[in-house]
Amino acid sequence: MTDQPQHLPDVPAADDLTAPWWDATREHRLTVQRCDGCAAVQHPPRAVCLACGTLGGLSQVDVSGAGEVDSFTVVHRGPRPDLATPYTIARVRLAEGPILLTRIHPHQEVAIDDPVEVAWWDLPDGRALPVFRPLNRTNTTP
Ligand SMILES: [Zn+2]
Repeated sequence: MTDQPQHLPDVPAADDLTAPWWDATREHRLTVQRCDGCAAVQHPPRAVCLACGTLGGLSQVDVSGAGEVDSFTVVHRGPRPDLATPYTIARVRLAEGPILLTRIHPHQEVAIDDPVEVAWWDLPDGRALPVFRPLNRTNTTP
């Protein structure tokens, strides 16, 4: 667990497709789907391999948790008054290829291609939410 915010974002319930991904987060393991047929990796979990079209035959596999900022935006006015601002929403490209929509935490200025690593916010139901921590922390915003 990292110094997570008091009020966490709303998180959807797990379903049949996403349950393996959410279950791994309970152990702070970041995973992506890998096709048993063609070995392509993808995220978020889907019923079909986007590379070869295979239905089923997809496994959740651990990834390193390393990535780079692909794109980001800083939110100055939150959707709910209890969400502290500013905060940074980012697309993080994992070292293994797939992209996650996530948070940069703690909030600080980032740039595209900045290296980041996974950190976790623990949710009340035992699941955890992956957020990403910049690795070259040089310009912390108060
Ligand atoms: Zn495939």
